[in-house]
Amino acid sequence: MNLYIKKTRLSIRAAVLAGFVMAALWGLPVSNCSIKIGHLRLVFPTGFVENSLLSHGVRMELVPGMMIIGLLLLLFGRFYCSWICSASSVHQLAEPVLYRPIVGRRVPWLKRFFLTPCEGVSKKLNLGYGDGLAIFLGLVAGVALFDFPFFTIFSPMGLVSRNVIELAVHKRLRYDLLLLAGPLLVGLFFRHGWKTCCPDGLMQRFVASWNKTLLPEVDPTACNGCAKCRRTCPAGLLAEDTVRLAGDCLKCLQCIEICPNHAVHLRLFPRKTRTPIPSKLSPGRRV
Ligand code: SF4
Ligand code: SF4
Repeated sequence: MNLYIKKTRLSIRAAVLAGFVMAALWGLPVSNCSIKIGHLRLVFPTGFVENSLLSHGVRMELVPGMMIIGLLLLLFGRFYCSWICSASSVHQLAEPVLYRPIVGRRVPWLKRFFLTPCEGVSKKLNLGYGDGLAIFLGLVAGVALFDFPFFTIFSPMGLVSRNVIELAVHKRLRYDLLLLAGPLLVGLFFRHGWKTCCPDGLMQRFVASWNKTLLPEVDPTACNGCAKCRRTCPAGLLAEDTVRLAGDCLKCLQCIEICPNHAVHLRLFPRKTRTPIPSKLSPGRRV
């Protein structure tokens, strides 16, 4: 079951990236944040807001496509963030190459002079969704005041998909790819910074707060509190907190893969209770 989840997620990510490249080569109007099917253009809420601001009026022709995306978010929550978004694919590819070696002390000076101070600043600032909302409103104001597509530049999803298309069609990358360093570093060095600063993720969170499908749930009789799920979770959640913090959960299902006691399961598929394997931690202690 666990291997099956991992393979499925990797296959979907690879298929999505390959799909963008193929679509770009064939000149189809498809990108990571907008897909045109006949007269229908599927856009994310951020794309709708940006397009409307730039047009100085509500883009009514985008409303049906945006409502379909909104419905999918209501049904599946932030599934998009962890299974499809190319920016999160890049982030996941970069993490074992950049973050883990640093944390694993293979680059101790970088950990000492960069990662540890960053974590200190992060703890002090206590970045949260309020800050993400401030960034979002700042971008809205920027688009409205300067008639410039700030969302498109800031959103990692847009940057990655534009460059994938450019690479496929013109065999070159765009200079704006350098801007990806901002969210990438925030994501890598402020452990949960990416979800805080991504405007698309933020809007998806609001919609997904009501969503309980594909949500992992913990069998308390099988959980020994080892907290492996929190250490692997891109949102830093303990699997037992997902029901309370549904908007934070990206539905990546990595907690199901990693749990040594098979205590995590989908709410849709309740399981029989089982005896927990004792943790090395003292009884009842949570990390
Ligand atoms: S990894 Fe499994 S056993 Fe460990 S805390 Fe999470 S749910 Fe419980
Ligand atoms: S709680 Fe589980 S499914 Fe949700 S984001 Fe964390 S690891 Fe992924």
